[in-house]
Amino acid sequence: MTISQAHKRYEFKRQLEEMRRKTGRGTELISLYIPYDKQISDVVAQLRNEHGQAANIKSKSTRTNVQSALESVLARLKYYPKPPENGFVIFCGTLDIDGHRTTLDTRIIEPHEPITSYKYHCDSSFYLDPLEEMLTDKKTFGLLVIDRREATVGLLRGKSIEVRKHLTSSVPGKQRKGGQSARRFQQLRLIAIHDFYKRIGNSASEIFLTIDHKDFEGVLIGGPSPTKEEFLEGEFFHHEIQKKIIGLFDIAYTDESGLYELMDAASDSLQDLEIVKQKKIMQRFMRELVSDNGLVAYGDSQVRANLEMGAVDVLLVSEDLRQVRMTITCQNCDYTRKETRQEIPDSFEERCPSCSSDLKITDAVDVVDELVGVCDQMGTSVEFISTDFEEGDQLMRAFGGVAAILRYDAGV
Ligand code: ZN
Repeated sequence: MTISQAHKRYEFKRQLEEMRRKTGRGTELISLYIPYDKQISDVVAQLRNEHGQAANIKSKSTRTNVQSALESVLARLKYYPKPPENGFVIFCGTLDIDGHRTTLDTRIIEPHEPITSYKYHCDSSFYLDPLEEMLTDKKTFGLLVIDRREATVGLLRGKSIEVRKHLTSSVPGKQRKGGQSARRFQQLRLIAIHDFYKRIGNSASEIFLTIDHKDFEGVLIGGPSPTKEEFLEGEFFHHEIQKKIIGLFDIAYTDESGLYELMDAASDSLQDLEIVKQKKIMQRFMRELVSDNGLVAYGDSQVRANLEMGAVDVLLVSEDLRQVRMTITCQNCDYTRKETRQEIPDSFEERCPSCSSDLKITDAVDVVDELVGVCDQMGTSVEFISTDFEEGDQLMRAFGGVAAILRYDAGV
């Protein structure tokens, strides 16, 4: 994943978290999924119809809430002569704020992946399943299980296996028929094995080359020894595929069930791929920290100071970091300062240290967005670190969710 992909994914995940917390009454919250090829005029017609039917709702407050939500959605649709590239989703409805107050909220999400089907959904919470589905794992692995008699080629996507091709060989058994010379027999046998490997290599390469480049993680090969090793050394794969081999695994079966056996055998290495990468970088951070050579920083203010000086080589950001960076400005003089907080305070009352006038929060941005922006300008790379492993969890708990490996000791 590139920085911007990782960052987009992070933002998207956060947006969904926020939407999941919102609740309303009855069936007052509207979720409207509009795919790329849907006519906006058809959507408008349906919503006008719903608006008409809502007039029959007995409870006055429900009726008003539903109709206002529909009006708000209709108003937003005016800005879309046609749906954007991946379609879009409108969430709208009267939300409970604190049990007493309510507010009409309308939000539009244009996802990074296409919306595949139209949906108009009303409930007491927003319908998020199709968007949450976009966050699931789409990593794809090529699978090959092989012995000298049989081979099966498949794909592993997320957690599901797809069988793509089954091949059998005409390689003669080890027992030669009467009348054949031992040498001749052995020669024919080797030729047959070689031909079979070639067929397997061609079929598997053809299938694996169709995998979308950005989702293609690599190839796993399973089978008895030394067949799989022999196959790999013979370089029977297309050269692009040969480069993608992750590992060889000992398994007993080479039919469809062999693919499942291969997935199980490899599962530890697979789960660990991304985590291993993150773990390595966290371990590098820990090593530098322990050696006390001034080449690490952690916590919001220390990291920022180094970042602004261009001293940061890699910025480590916890995936669980949720903070805001506020700009606080005096309404009277030119006093201004920036401050990081867990969230924007409900009420803010503070006096200016130089003129005693009221201070106000004039800007608030998400800390991660802001840090990633600074990194882009400074040519600093960013690694998002999950809390699913010990060192990652420590980054969040012990180091304030943000840390840095430095290019040099900037003395701040
Ligand atoms: Zn002031």
